[in-house]
Amino acid sequence: MSYPPAIVDTMNETIECPNHNGSFDCNPFCRLCEGNQETDLDTLLTYAFSVSWDGCHKIYLNMDKMQHDKMIEYGYERTIQNNNPYITNQEVQTWYEDSCSLRFIDAVFTNDDDTDKFVTVVAQFFGEDEEDD
Ligand SMILES: [Zn+2]
Repeated sequence: MSYPPAIVDTMNETIECPNHNGSFDCNPFCRLCEGNQETDLDTLLTYAFSVSWDGCHKIYLNMDKMQHDKMIEYGYERTIQNNNPYITNQEVQTWYEDSCSLRFIDAVFTNDDDTDKFVTVVAQFFGEDEEDD
């Protein structure tokens, strides 16, 4: 079997900025990417309100209070407030390592119309070899 790389190897993965949306491109005033139009886990953790883990394989960065409240309502096994991004980062890494092989990390934002916007941070099956069998 192949071992997925440690999540620390994914920390520098850049992802499309959640605020970057079609023709509404980010500009230097974008609070997340400042116009780079991509961002990474460390940057997202700077802004996350809290993080949640279902105790199995779903890890979410709750980017605002509304998403935090929803996770509490859903009864996720663990939710911690992001008071210190460094400590939160460590916790997310531990959760990721303890998750089953279906693991993924998503950031979830609240849209203006109160719907959820999910952004993939670490995709499911990230780092696993594709096998034919
Ligand atoms: Zn942006």
